[in-house]
Amino acid sequence: MSRRTKIVATLGPATDSPEVMDAVLRAGVDVARVNFSHGTAEEHIARVERFRDSARRVGKYAAVMADLPGPKMRVRMPALRFLNYGDPVVFSLSAAPVEPGDLVLTEPELLADVRPGQRMLLDDGRLQLEAGETQKGRLFSKVLVGGTLHPNKGLNLPDTPLSIAALTERDRAAITVAARAEVDWVAVSFVRTAEAADEVRAACAACGLNVPVLAKIERPEAVGRAAAIVAAFDAIMVARGDLGVELPLERVPSVQKMLIAEARAAGKPVITATDMLDSMRNNPRPTRAEASDVANAIYDGTDAVMLSGETAVGAYPVDAVTCMSRIAEETEAHIHLTRTAPPHAPVNEDSDGPITLAACSLADEVNATAIVTPTLSGRTAKLAARYRPWARVIAVAPTDAVLQRLALVWGITPVRMTPVDTGGDRMATAVLDAFTAGTIRVGERVVVLAGHPIAGGPRFPTVRVVRVGEGGVSTEP
Ligand code: ATP
Ligand code: MG
Ligand code: MG
Repeated sequence: MSRRTKIVATLGPATDSPEVMDAVLRAGVDVARVNFSHGTAEEHIARVERFRDSARRVGKYAAVMADLPGPKMRVRMPALRFLNYGDPVVFSLSAAPVEPGDLVLTEPELLADVRPGQRMLLDDGRLQLEAGETQKGRLFSKVLVGGTLHPNKGLNLPDTPLSIAALTERDRAAITVAARAEVDWVAVSFVRTAEAADEVRAACAACGLNVPVLAKIERPEAVGRAAAIVAAFDAIMVARGDLGVELPLERVPSVQKMLIAEARAAGKPVITATDMLDSMRNNPRPTRAEASDVANAIYDGTDAVMLSGETAVGAYPVDAVTCMSRIAEETEAHIHLTRTAPPHAPVNEDSDGPITLAACSLADEVNATAIVTPTLSGRTAKLAARYRPWARVIAVAPTDAVLQRLALVWGITPVRMTPVDTGGDRMATAVLDAFTAGTIRVGERVVVLAGHPIAGGPRFPTVRVVRVGEGGVSTEP
């Protein structure tokens, strides 16, 4: 695989058959997202199992990310409904319709904060209503922008100040399911503060789930506190669906660039999400604008790009992944050819940043095909990936949990580490492991980077250049 940018794909009915699941993995999916806003606990668990089976069949370390619903109201209704300009729409303020035809929401109590004249946006802003009076447990509104309303679409209230907890009851229930499914990442929707990170970690730990947590940035408050949120969480997502509803749409591109830069500076992975190849839900080819959007997120420096409805419910899930992968490879090649400045200046002041940067420059200088890095926690590999070296970063780690998590990070190829006896040379063994996994070939030159070069020895950050000899043995460069 030569692609560095990672692909996140939302699983759904369209990816459920083993054939399609295998095919999307082969086409390039690195991370499967399960959106807990849709479907039942049993569906999610079964879906994760099928994905793990496929990943084993295809022979690939891939991550599963549970996406928690967050405090987002969704419309509960049995069938779709057509809303035309000027139509009256009535919401029930309780869990059941007051009059037949009233719309019921997942969190109806939040409607108590809505005042006349405020906007009510449905389905990522595709449909727009204006709130009117509240009478006898019902909120009246009228349609400003019409369309077809499908069941379970979200409602945003950008003009209404809301005071809700970071984790809802539904989120906590979702975490227990995510723990049963043994996911690798937990994504939190509508994060507003940095403190939410520890709250989520605690809720996960209480269910025996100890995994990194990702903040979905989709509220104006979160954009304002981006640096603190990036510092507190393990990764972020530029969740453009709700972001483009909660903020003026024209701010989304600049906010995307700012968020990616924040994440990169902190060495945390960042996903760019929503509508990337949206027209591929119904078409085998995307629009030119969509292709450019994927490329531009990569030029911005994103670790991963994401597919939502395209893979969850689209007619062309495999084509969408293939197409995204091609755009990524072409864009990366162009970035490499036109790059002049060093990839990124080190920001952390201990020696790890500068040494990792040196390893990346060295790899460029000696035309290394890979930077092989034995890493117990994945940290060294993530540091290297942050500098976006052209050489692939081969992370040789001992556990499935670490290897699967690293599937989200730009440029990293996860490889299983064989145990090394105390006193053994971790760097030579990592080269052997990378060779055995088929990620490097005889005759190639590679840079080896290790924080702990001797098994059981002290921390002693070390960089080495070697040539891959017969059988994967390290020889003279
Ligand atoms: P979010 O705001 O969290 O992104 P969303 O409603 O936009 O929520 P996506 O995960 O972006 O959902 O997926 C896009 C669409 O694909 C959804 O609106 C829904 O119609 C469909 N979808 C996603 N996952 C499922 C699922 N598990 N089952 C059925 N439909 C799904
Ligand atoms: Mg979405
Ligand atoms: Mg959302």
